[in-house]
Amino acid sequence: MNNDDLNNQILKLRNKGYGYKRIAKELSISVSAARYVCLKNDEKSKTTHCKNCSLSIISIEGKRKKVFCSDKCRYNWWNKNQNKVNKKAYYTHQCKNCNKEFVAYGNKKRIYCSQECYIKSKISKVGANNEAKWLRDVLSVDGTNSKDVKWRRN
Ligand SMILES: [Zn+2]
Ligand SMILES: [Zn+2]
Repeated sequence: MNNDDLNNQILKLRNKGYGYKRIAKELSISVSAARYVCLKNDEKSKTTHCKNCSLSIISIEGKRKKVFCSDKCRYNWWNKNQNKVNKKAYYTHQCKNCNKEFVAYGNKKRIYCSQECYIKSKISKVGANNEAKWLRDVLSVDGTNSKDVKWRRN
């Protein structure tokens, strides 16, 4: 195989969307050689690669560089990234009490999936003996009780 043939082989695989590593493996050449040939060719032909599938796109000089090879790829890419944007405020946590995965909106620090799990885990921490006392403490600061007190005061 002479050099031109090898270059063509590399570019053919590149056009199929192969990465440098895969090209190198396929043709038993070094990764740096594959990269070198690809980059040199990209410069020459003003080739860009689709942001979504990394397929080669040949841009026409003077025109705006294409970012996607097709409308389908544009759609897929935006779809993927739209999800990323939307998911930003959602955090997935694993409940420390029941190990269930749950999603909390805008709260990075939640540890329990529900108030029930929070209370259960507190109880297991204070121990069964202190459970009744602890529950009384929790319930004494409960809204209904304090309202009751206020109402009586007024
Ligand atoms: Zn594409
Ligand atoms: Zn839970």
